[in-house]
Amino acid sequence: MKANTYAYRVGNGIYINLTNRCTNACRFCIRNNAEGAYGSESLWLEKEPTAAEVFEAVKTLYFPACREFVFCGYGEPMIRIDTLVESARLLKAQFSLPIRINTNGHAALIHGEDVTPRLAGLIDCVSVSLNTPDAAEYVSLCKPVYGEKAFEALLAFTTACKMHVPDVQMSVVGDFLNKYQLVMCKAIADRSGVKLRVREYIGNN
Ligand code: SF4
Repeated sequence: MKANTYAYRVGNGIYINLTNRCTNACRFCIRNNAEGAYGSESLWLEKEPTAAEVFEAVKTLYFPACREFVFCGYGEPMIRIDTLVESARLLKAQFSLPIRINTNGHAALIHGEDVTPRLAGLIDCVSVSLNTPDAAEYVSLCKPVYGEKAFEALLAFTTACKMHVPDVQMSVVGDFLNKYQLVMCKAIADRSGVKLRVREYIGNN
């Protein structure tokens, strides 16, 4: 089912769905076996939203206990860096709430340059999906269109983000890693100077 769900509520946050495009095809991606996430309507988009449409969708959904906005979506939000930055600017001006991006960290490969300076002053937190402790395993689990260089790119992206964003984290899906792999991922996060968030697999709604 196609729809135009540009924003949806998760706990005390509003999540923003900019695109269904992605440069990965992760084995654990919720898109493989669900239409939406956390009880949302279908997140398969008929049309990608403009920044004004994102702003309107968030305004409609806004509730007093809302504590953050998250660019997450059913795809890789940083593919749409222009719309993301413009939307963040509108949201920041209206609500003054923290804004997070959940990303696969491929932005420099996607855009051919480091776009992290554009996040300065707008984005409060970036969570980069590390997923595995090395490039070969990353290719096996996430099937990036860029092959093994995607892994080095996400590490470099994480480091670059630290210069422009106050809170930078990495994440893994714990269910897809053994204990040794988890330890190795933690070591990578430590070397990068960021926290590692071990999240649960979301198989379906
Ligand atoms: S990076 Fe995210 S949206 Fe893209 S395939 Fe992986 S889990 Fe799905």
